[in-house]
Amino acid sequence: MTRRGVAILGSTGSIGTATLRVIARHADMFRVVALTAFENASLLREQGEAVRPDYIGIVNPNGDSSAEWATGPDCLIEAASLPAVDIVVNAIVGAAGLQATLAALRAGKRVALANKESLVMGGDFVLSACDEGGGEIVPVDSEHSAILQCIGTRPSSEVSRVILTASGGPFRDWDADRISRATIDDALNHPTWRMGRKITVDSATLANKALEVIEAHYLFGLPYDRIDVVVHPQSIIHSYVEFVDGSVIAQIGFPNMELPILYALTHPHRVVDPAVRPFDPTSASPLTFGPVDMDRFPALALGIQAGAAGGVAPVVFNAANEAAVCLFLDGVIGFAEIPRAIASALAATSALPSGTLAELIFADAAARSHVREHNANPVSEHACP
Ligand code: NDP
Ligand code: MG
Repeated sequence: MTRRGVAILGSTGSIGTATLRVIARHADMFRVVALTAFENASLLREQGEAVRPDYIGIVNPNGDSSAEWATGPDCLIEAASLPAVDIVVNAIVGAAGLQATLAALRAGKRVALANKESLVMGGDFVLSACDEGGGEIVPVDSEHSAILQCIGTRPSSEVSRVILTASGGPFRDWDADRISRATIDDALNHPTWRMGRKITVDSATLANKALEVIEAHYLFGLPYDRIDVVVHPQSIIHSYVEFVDGSVIAQIGFPNMELPILYALTHPHRVVDPAVRPFDPTSASPLTFGPVDMDRFPALALGIQAGAAGGVAPVVFNAANEAAVCLFLDGVIGFAEIPRAIASALAATSALPSGTLAELIFADAAARSHVREHNANPVSEHACP
């Protein structure tokens, strides 16, 4: 059997390194053709020595790249379009992943998509690139992988609603006043998942769930009033699909991103993976559920409203959130400023046009500038995009 060629964009991150572990266990099926990172040259070099890919790219070489590596942001597009690549795992964090998603889909690849920001920022353009190039998007995000698995081969006309589960993050039981004083360490202390810093903060504000609602809208073609969110602290039920006859199907398992990563590589097939912890309902018990509290987590409401409003709003929500999270992680703003910065950017940019990709990229930049100008101390050094 010919092995399928895989490009891993963002190979040095949480999803990227998990993908390399998954592929190492399935080396009979997959071959790593390309690896890219932003700036972590030492880990990238180690990964390159272990898997010997055809292509290695680093966006920001910082004087520490190897002579044969490609450099600069175009390496993402190049890696995503290589003829030997069948599957592009997009594990880049943030809007920086959009162009690679578009390039891969235009080149007819399967995109195993962890980079949800691609769909939030350029949903319509991503879907058109998919149609035009004959590519395919298979979600890596655990909730969307769950929904895909629950829908199976049923037509979308039989789906009445999806229910995304949310762990609720580290502040699930905190009151609003305590949340507003949360520190960086508090926000990075996620109860059920170990992930990169940006998505971990997004899981504390619940902005991540808003990004996922928008992601579900594009992936499954559902209007926003048919996408619900429920808090489920144990992260065992990864999401539910309700069908028109009232039947509800859920996908279940102990939280581990290696399972949805493997499924995104093998979909619609399933393969044996001895490393996955066998499910045991007794030790998973009890499973609990509760409503989301939009008052304590205003970023969630802002994101869902932005998705439903369409136009530049989802782009601005995503970009303002990225800029604000970066400022929070740099110690420039407090946790409660994150949703305030997003709301302010949404209000300031609502009249911007959204008809072309260039206009979306302009709105993304405008939202970031707005957040920086209104929140950063002008004398402090900060390198947030
Ligand atoms: P990490 O921060 O751990 O990793 C990000 C990766 O992207 C790194 O390889 C980093 O390189 C690279 N990168 C960062 N900025 C750029 C840039 N401007 N251009 C190119 N490459 C860049 O993030 P995660 O792995 O946690 O998340 C990746 C994506 O997957 C996000 O969209 C997230 O929402 C999504 N996701 C993650 C989950 C998880 O469990 N971690 C679960 C579901 C979705 P370097 O190391 O050199 O900085
Ligand atoms: Mg998720």
